[in-house]
Amino acid sequence: MAGEKITATSGGELQVPDNPIVLFIEGDGTGADIWAATRPVLDAAVAKAYGQQRQIAWQEVLAGEKAFKQTRSYMPVESLTALREFRVALKGPLTTPIGGGFRSLNVTLRQVLDLYACIRPVRYYTGVPSPMKAPELIDMVIYRENTEDLYAGIEWPATSPEAQKLIAFLNTELGCSLDPTAAIGIKPMTERCSKRLIRMALKYAVEQSRASVTLMHKGNIMKYTEGAFQNWGYEVAAEFGDLVTNEGELATRYHGVVPAGTVLLKDRLADNLFQQVLLRPAEYQVIATPNLNGDYISDALAAQVGGLGMAPGANIGDHCAIFEATHGSAPKYAGLDKVNPTSLILSGTMLLEYLGWGEAAALIHQALPRTLAAGIATYDLARLLPGSQEVSCSAFGQGLIEHM
Ligand code: NAD
Repeated sequence: MAGEKITATSGGELQVPDNPIVLFIEGDGTGADIWAATRPVLDAAVAKAYGQQRQIAWQEVLAGEKAFKQTRSYMPVESLTALREFRVALKGPLTTPIGGGFRSLNVTLRQVLDLYACIRPVRYYTGVPSPMKAPELIDMVIYRENTEDLYAGIEWPATSPEAQKLIAFLNTELGCSLDPTAAIGIKPMTERCSKRLIRMALKYAVEQSRASVTLMHKGNIMKYTEGAFQNWGYEVAAEFGDLVTNEGELATRYHGVVPAGTVLLKDRLADNLFQQVLLRPAEYQVIATPNLNGDYISDALAAQVGGLGMAPGANIGDHCAIFEATHGSAPKYAGLDKVNPTSLILSGTMLLEYLGWGEAAALIHQALPRTLAAGIATYDLARLLPGSQEVSCSAFGQGLIEHM
């Protein structure tokens, strides 16, 4: 089916035709296996939800080893141009090339396309083994800033000329008393990047009627970076008027009862939030946080619902969105039709929701626990689910289609 381009209004609102062109990057290693299992699931969900009316026109863009074999480039300029032009893509894992090319293709994509929010929904699917007593209480979405903080990569080794020069400057000019043998890392955080991330999280919460957004930070210790993130968060919340309130206003203005249709903005110190998501998970719906905190809490929460490489993810900016499996390319399993395709399939459901095709996404969310309950599982889950039958990567995808 010939497709049409996804466009956006001048206000940034996505315009999705019934036959949108959606790009896919197969990925390296097991990428081909999980993509082959994922595509039929997504197409079947769309067909079941909308019949002949809607269909995705998948179009491949080259990246990684497949691109290198064909073009001698791991990330051809044409691929970046296509991603900018067509806006939405589903991506398998990419191996970081050793001894040449980009340092990391994934980081390159995020930087070049300014995909400033790393979004990781964390929810529990019945049947998945979890270390929690009540994992079903966890239903959160993490918005992690993707472009700055300690991840900006500005650091120098201990005793390097750069570190020594900087330490000398800090000690003599700015009154610090740093050990001259220290290694140095820089933590840049800007108002612009913090605010756009928090704005995206609040917008999502308002549009999806999620009860709260929590700013996760370490502002008691890092006052002018993490502390500023918190302050900027309250400033962004004010842009939303009565649609967002905060815990201070809740007590003074609303006598402890959040008005219907209003999102509650909370803020929690990072260490405290790690306790809270274990002890009181039902109180947290959306978490907005700087880059490094986001890295830690994403994996910790994924583990709480069973981890196992099933977590989906997306990297989203104002002009482009790439949905991707959160695990790597697991080269030793490549081509065996063995690994679990769920991470890529659930990233596909995020993509469907991003297009506004929530009905199709819901069919997959419903099919997953049914498939597991029927004892159908790939090797990683089968060994943890007594009585289940180990099936291949593609057979698991077919199992999902049968249970839609
Ligand atoms: P990995 O996630 O590829 O594999 C680690 C282990 O996790 C595997 O041995 C396997 O036991 C398990 N696993 C991974 N995917 C699975 C699946 N779908 N189903 C079941 N089990 C699965 O991590 P790694 O070995 O550290 O990295 C391999 C390559 O992937 C590296 O080149 C790395 O740079 C790259 N990588 C890419 C991404 C990405 O594209 N976003 C993310 C992480 C790693």
